[in-house]
Amino acid sequence: MIDDESFKDKPYEEKIKIMSGMTEKEISDGLEQIKFICKDYCGKCPSYQGTGETDLAFCSIGKSTLIKEKKGCLCKECPVYKMMSLRWDYYCTEGNAMELSNAEK
Ligand code: SF4
Ligand code: SF4
Repeated sequence: MIDDESFKDKPYEEKIKIMSGMTEKEISDGLEQIKFICKDYCGKCPSYQGTGETDLAFCSIGKSTLIKEKKGCLCKECPVYKMMSLRWDYYCTEGNAMELSNAEK
C-alpha cells in the first residue's frame, strides 16, 4: 500500500488517481490487506453482526446484500478510513467510496 508523506494528506479522489497505476496483483493484495484490517471494524460492528454477512471491505467492494439495517458504523475508527481519506460511512448499505464520491458530483 502507498504510504509516503505526500500521499498521506491527499483527498480520496487524488489517492485513487495515484493508485490507478497499480497492477491486478497489487490491487488484489491491497484488497486482502483492507479485509484483514476491516474484520476488526466491520466485523465487529452492530450493523454487521448477526446478519450472516462474511464479506468485508464494503468501502471498496460496495454494498452488502445481507446488511440492511443501520445499527452503528465503526468505519471512522478504521485505519483504512484515514489511509484512504474516506469521508463517508455505512458503505455496506450506501455503496463503495467511489460511488459515494461520484454521487456528490
Ligand atoms: S460499513 Fe460501517 S456499518 Fe457497515 S459493516 Fe462496516 S462498520 Fe458496520
Ligand atoms: S473503512 Fe469501513 S468498510 Fe472500509 S475497511 Fe474500514 S471498516 Fe471496513
